[in-house]
Amino acid sequence: MGTTSRAQRMVLADGRSHRGPLFTGAHHPCLGPRRGVPYAADGGKKSVNRQALHDLKQQIPLLGYLQAHDWRAARPLSRGRLMGLCPLHDDQKPSFLVDPHKNLFYCYGCGRGGDVIRFAELYHQVRFPEAVALLRQWRGLPPLLHEAAGFYRMQLHRHSEAVAYLYQRGIRSPELIEHMQIGYAPGGCLRAWLMQLGYPLQTLRQAGLVTASGYDAYIHRVVFPLDGNLYGRSLSAAAPPHRFLPGAKGGLYAWEQVRQCPEVILVEGLFDYAVLWQAGFRNVTCAMGTQLNASQFRQLCDGMRTIYLAFDADANRSGQRAMQTLAHRLREQRLKVCTVELPEGHDPNSLFANGGDARRFQALLEAARS
Ligand SMILES: [Zn+2]
Repeated sequence: MGTTSRAQRMVLADGRSHRGPLFTGAHHPCLGPRRGVPYAADGGKKSVNRQALHDLKQQIPLLGYLQAHDWRAARPLSRGRLMGLCPLHDDQKPSFLVDPHKNLFYCYGCGRGGDVIRFAELYHQVRFPEAVALLRQWRGLPPLLHEAAGFYRMQLHRHSEAVAYLYQRGIRSPELIEHMQIGYAPGGCLRAWLMQLGYPLQTLRQAGLVTASGYDAYIHRVVFPLDGNLYGRSLSAAAPPHRFLPGAKGGLYAWEQVRQCPEVILVEGLFDYAVLWQAGFRNVTCAMGTQLNASQFRQLCDGMRTIYLAFDADANRSGQRAMQTLAHRLREQRLKVCTVELPEGHDPNSLFANGGDARRFQALLEAARS
């Protein structure tokens, strides 16, 4: 054991002593003060430094990570703690305790507990360094994605086909392009740019920006930066229309800017969001699909508000069905929900791209069914 791993132990032990006892009145050998570090994996921590580990744990709340892996609380306990089935063993009655404030878990069934890194080790059955790598990938790679998005933005106005595509989709205002930080991935140039900035090829591959064979992953795509991801919309009908980088697509689009609004419009796609924002509707957000992930659903339910659902009125009615299902789930959470009936075959984007305007959409909102 070298100095690195000893330093590592001290860091983890330090963190623990500040936290104090985890679950008062519970016997939890994994987390007891004498036991110290809850990690089983001992070696291979050379690349992990103290601050980076601390940051990683700050950026990935344990509860969010659990919920993203389909964990659901069965019942709340005191002080905000939650109890549910243990995802680490075959649990019959809820024995998995989560403290979202302390970012720690403990299972009374299998006796295991710890923080989000420990959970990732156990859940994915990997050793400490791999768990850290998985979590980093999960968190996204903010500085790298920032560079990539900035590069794509520079490309947008150098490629007339991209500007023409945006125009055809009803995206015309420079203010909107600035607001959404829309860029363009021509393909065949991001890799060289990022490597020149010092990013190793392996990092670019891990982020999904470069394919296994070494080519830019996004080619001929309009790119929108998300929270920890990049959405790419293909200009070509030959390629799959929608692409995300590996990992979570994140929460609701621009949620912080709308969460205080008493009425919120939820749409399926970023192009729907774009035309509404451009038309002056600033209380709009987007789930990037009809199926909300756990964190998006939680966001919608985090306060009292009226939600207007404006999903695609596609011919096979899949958008409508998804909208009704979501409306039902939201009403169960005591939210007021209105479903907007768009003309057959339209989504908000096509409505505006084909001559619709704010007044027309406002009329649809007013006619929405609650
Ligand atoms: Zn368990």
